[in-house]
Amino acid sequence: MSLSGLRLARLWPWIERSAFRRFAFAALVAALASAMHWAIFPITQARVTFIFFIPAIVLTTTLAGRWPGVLVAVVGLVNSALMKSGSILIPNSAEQVALISSAVVSVLVIIVGDYYRSLSRRELSDLHDLHELSATLASIPKLPEQLHLILTTFARIHGAPRGVISTLDPARNVLEAAASVGFAERSLEAMRATPLGVGAVGQACAEKSRVVIEDAAHDPRCQVFRRLMPDEDVRAVHVTPLIARGGHVLGALAVHLDQARKPTEREIRIADICARKASVFIERARAEEQVSQQDRRFQSVLEASGVPFLIWSPVRNEAGKIIDFRFRYVNTAAAQVMRIEATEYLGKRVLEVLPRAWDEVGRLEMYIDALERSEVLQTERQSAADGNHAWYHIVASPLDGDIAVWFADITQRKAQERDLVEADRRKDEFLATLAHELRNPLAPIRQAASIARNPDATEAQRRWSNNVIERQVQHMSLLLDDLLDVSRITHGTLQLRRQQTDLQSIVGAAVETARPLLDERHHQLDIDVPAALHMYGDPLRLAQVLSNLLTNAAKYTHPRGAVRITATESEGELELTVEDSGIGISSEDLPRVFGMFAQVRSAQEHAAGGLGIGLALAKGIVELHGGRIEAASGGVGKGSRFTVHLPGAFRSVVSAPAARPALNGATVHKRILLADDNRDAAESLAIILRLEGHEVDVAHDGVTALQSFASKRPDVALLDIGMPKVNGFEVAQQIRAQPEGEHVLLIAITGWAQDSDRARSRAAGFDHHLTKPVEPDILIELLAPRPAAS
Ligand code: ADP
Repeated sequence: MSLSGLRLARLWPWIERSAFRRFAFAALVAALASAMHWAIFPITQARVTFIFFIPAIVLTTTLAGRWPGVLVAVVGLVNSALMKSGSILIPNSAEQVALISSAVVSVLVIIVGDYYRSLSRRELSDLHDLHELSATLASIPKLPEQLHLILTTFARIHGAPRGVISTLDPARNVLEAAASVGFAERSLEAMRATPLGVGAVGQACAEKSRVVIEDAAHDPRCQVFRRLMPDEDVRAVHVTPLIARGGHVLGALAVHLDQARKPTEREIRIADICARKASVFIERARAEEQVSQQDRRFQSVLEASGVPFLIWSPVRNEAGKIIDFRFRYVNTAAAQVMRIEATEYLGKRVLEVLPRAWDEVGRLEMYIDALERSEVLQTERQSAADGNHAWYHIVASPLDGDIAVWFADITQRKAQERDLVEADRRKDEFLATLAHELRNPLAPIRQAASIARNPDATEAQRRWSNNVIERQVQHMSLLLDDLLDVSRITHGTLQLRRQQTDLQSIVGAAVETARPLLDERHHQLDIDVPAALHMYGDPLRLAQVLSNLLTNAAKYTHPRGAVRITATESEGELELTVEDSGIGISSEDLPRVFGMFAQVRSAQEHAAGGLGIGLALAKGIVELHGGRIEAASGGVGKGSRFTVHLPGAFRSVVSAPAARPALNGATVHKRILLADDNRDAAESLAIILRLEGHEVDVAHDGVTALQSFASKRPDVALLDIGMPKVNGFEVAQQIRAQPEGEHVLLIAITGWAQDSDRARSRAAGFDHHLTKPVEPDILIELLAPRPAAS
């Protein structure tokens, strides 16, 4: 707009405000025109008289109205008369004609000016109304009220007493009145569910074009409504369709007039403006409804899924760096996991409610990363924040500047994984132990056989060899029996041969079985079993359980320990207890000892290790008898107590201590220290070596081995690894640590044959690692080429 236009636009409303201002403006303009009129008078004389008043009248009439225009015209005419004759009375007829002409021109100018003024005023008032409408619409939240306001504004501008905005229901393809003005309730009822194409509104929607009914009384399109709405005196209907941006029809804006006429151009223009506004609001409301419907669906899916889910928005510091997150949404499942109400954390910062949430290094960074790199990240973490250390599978996904976080509780799965890994480890350990346990008897068997074969062997040596072979074979078959029993229990095929039995005979049988080991380790055995205790069970299997417990007590108690068996009966339940003063069991290991292949201390570390199935077997047999077995211990080093409720027992035969045959030495080539806690193995190997002419000293534990090394200074040390007191690794290390031990040939003889075992041997200082049973020829060869180290 030009500068003058701008000023005029401001001047007009100012003048409009009061009659005084309008006339004051007219007076001012008249004064200005008069001044100019008289200013040019000395030059023009009376030739130009009215010229300045024409624009003055135009300006005044258009800005201030017709009467102020008349005022300027009168002033102009008076001035013209004065200029021509010096008086307002004009004598000369030519001048009278000029004056009358000026008056006629003035009247014409005033009529035209006033017409344009009224046009502009209406335009201004329309503009004002539309402006008001826009401003008010912005503050109304709901569509029905918005449409109502548009409709009332439009009907007022249009001068219509009735009007309706109908919207198309796309699902049913019918029109419904969304806002109305001036109609009676009955008429509105009649307008319900108008099909497309019916009536003026239906036609406008169907044809997507304006429908004007100038004379409703005679128009067939109004017949239906005239019948349905006899109370309404409708003479004309003007309908503008509401068209969406996509071109489809949304409804129609209709006004019903009480006089038969067409809409004016101005009304059409305003109808279009109002229709556009209504379309915009309908479309916006539908879009919002769609979004909120999607939102509701999304929420109900999230709520129903049971997967904990939340949305966080980032909290940044002044430098724009993310330092925390804020809860924006928490679904019910997430609230349950966090033990809160779903709305309790909303708007709060994570650190405010879970102060340790970001303690773990990298946790916060993970979410920041997901957000900044716009990537979906997944991880499995243990939660320190909620105090129960549960495991969660977490998925973090960026969501419009926020971050959506799903977390599934996988604690159970993790525990299962751990159990699987543990079971796998136990299986590996079991296989290694089994190999070890099977090799153990093989060594003495092979060596005994080789002695028996040797033509130089004495009769006594041959007899001794036969005894060794017999004992070791029996030991192996017991081992295999145990394995088979375990398998039978696992598959539920172990059959009990129940009979009336007295507990004392079961205990007697078990003690008989365990006696050799108890004696070998010089344990003190106390038995306190009353004679009167009877039960119905399988005596062999129960003796098996008990002997297993006794054997364990003997194995896991340092020599000269105390083992005690007691039995009591209370409330019809037999309670059989085997107690020892041995190495004890830590509280973490206690629950595991009855597991299959469970060996709570590394099987390699204790000399008397078994397969780790004895207790599992005992438990199975006891449970087959309808009983239970419990383990208790004051902790490591504090002894153990195994209690069988109802009868239970076990069978086991443990090698009797081997007699040490005195052999005649052959030619002495080397001084050899041979340490092995398996006496049969040690003695038979010693015999082989002696037959080769070596001087052999035998030790059965690590301490004796070291003492023997110190006193005899051997050239070669053959060391078993799993020995009581000090194991083979430690013996080797201690020998190597001495100056005299530097050049000793150290050979590990063990049932452990894995790469890691060999590496461990090497690290301990061994030169060779032989697995049991040792091939005598290999050993003899190993010894042969080496010169004595001393
Ligand atoms: P193993 O063949 O290893 O003896 P068991 O099933 O008999 O297998 O015993 C399982 C584990 O329980 C043993 O390896 C040992 O660590 C522990 N255990 C059993 N009895 C005792 C006990 N009396 N004292 C200490 N620990 C024991």
